Amino acid sequence: MTDCLFCRIAAGEIPATIVRRSGRLLAFRDINPQAPTHVLVIPTEHLRSLDAAKDGALLGEMLLFARDTARELGIAERGYRVVANTNADGGQTVDHLHLHVLGGRAMRWPPG
Ligand code: AMP
Ligand code: ZN
Repeated sequence: MTDCLFCRIAAGEIPATIVRRSGRLLAFRDINPQAPTHVLVIPTEHLRSLDAAKDGALLGEMLLFARDTARELGIAERGYRVVANTNADGGQTVDHLHLHVLGGRAMRWPPG
């Protein structure tokens, strides 16, 4: 059994509120939402980070999946933010590649 949290969510071993699923991607609600809508998009296969990613098609799929999820959740028209915290300075705390999709309020810039 893997000790990767997001692999375990993808395997259904840890409960999560699943929003959307495709062949190799999954979107679920962030447990500590930073906006009224806060969803994470992950590949179901383990991949440590954006920095470790080599599969451009997968990354493209993830972005389109994030976009379609935002549309489905009704935040696309007003706008939303897609974030990939990467490695330590990027603020990555879970070492399984994920995109944050945040919306439902106006985002600020610059981020902290
Ligand atoms: P990051 O800090 O970019 O690595 O993002 C990790 C995200 O995972 C954080 O926003 C956490 O709130 C979220 N998270 C941690 N544990 C869970 C969980 N069990 N279910 C859903 N989201 C989680
Ligand atoms: Zn993993």
